[in-house]
Amino acid sequence: MIDDKDFSEVEVTAHRDDRIIEPEFRAEDADIEYSLRPKYLNEYIGQDKVKENLKIYIEAAKKRKESLDHVLLYGPPGLGKTTLAGIIANELGVNIKITSGPAIEKPGELAALLTGLQTGDVLFVDEIHRLSRQVEEILYPALEDRVLDIVIGKGPSAQSIRVDLNPFTLIGATTRAGQLTSPLRDRFGVIMRLELYSEEELCSIVQRSSVILSIPCEREGALEIARRSRGTPRIANRLLRRVRDFAEVMGEGRITKEMSDIALSRMEIDKLGLDSLDRRFLSTIIKSYNGGPVGLETLASALGEEAVTLEDVCEPYLMQLGFINRTPRGRCATYEAYKYLGINKDGQQFLDD
Ligand code: ADP
Repeated sequence: MIDDKDFSEVEVTAHRDDRIIEPEFRAEDADIEYSLRPKYLNEYIGQDKVKENLKIYIEAAKKRKESLDHVLLYGPPGLGKTTLAGIIANELGVNIKITSGPAIEKPGELAALLTGLQTGDVLFVDEIHRLSRQVEEILYPALEDRVLDIVIGKGPSAQSIRVDLNPFTLIGATTRAGQLTSPLRDRFGVIMRLELYSEEELCSIVQRSSVILSIPCEREGALEIARRSRGTPRIANRLLRRVRDFAEVMGEGRITKEMSDIALSRMEIDKLGLDSLDRRFLSTIIKSYNGGPVGLETLASALGEEAVTLEDVCEPYLMQLGFINRTPRGRCATYEAYKYLGINKDGQQFLDD
């Protein structure tokens, strides 16, 4: 008995396309993200532990005139992994080449990238968990011994030659560190996890962006956007741009608390930044599965969504809010979730007892 199954395919798809609080990169973000991206560590807001450690590693590498150890950055999308890779290259004063796991189809393409690197350069590979097995194998000796083993020719006359590489730093980014093969993971000297941002940190990010974009923005207005950005800078910047549209058309172009509130409510983003997918996620656990535990795949098919989307996009934030628990037997809704949605297991109004 899954009452949320009534959502037609069309409705679900339309809803997904409209999802303004989706943390994945969208084409509309391209130009703006470039101008908003911090270039140096002192402009990068939050992630204090990561920043402090990185500062030391970068300084030490510069002192020794060596390349920085290979770095793996992991965490949900939109938290600043690409930004941080650019910052590391800037702080080291080296060039950066940017690519992604699925973009490197053949071992030869990776070999070309690696041989093109100058001493100390950074190679950034986004979604590194999606490298093919063949490509990954080229990477092992490159990371460990700075050599490439290239096979020339085919059959019995094939020859293997070794090419030395310049010292370089690989920065890998992934939303799912668990999916990296262990030989690859073991070759990173520095492994760092990015956390969702606090409200105050996101408020500073919104204020910084509004200065760059020349949008007058009051602190209370920025705070309201921050509160509804699901701990994610990419979403905060996107919401800022949408709120600006409302402020220009309906107000005097100034982002105030009231303006943010009107705009975000119109976009159906609630007080905590939950949208209809998050709410359906919670209400399905509560109403259809008695509060859980329910397996992720079961939930995904009940919601007509992919399990990866739920795991990467909905769950980190719902867990940060304390609305769900992940147990070995599946997902459970917490008391806080019942209270927030105002429903009981039978779908009746929530009564605190
Ligand atoms: P990821 O690679 O993790 O998906 P990005 O590095 O592309 O995320 O970050 C998305 C956007 O969020 C960037 O364009 C940048 O403007 C903003 N951003 C991310 N982290 C920070 C930060 N710590 N301080 C300020 N802005 C940030």
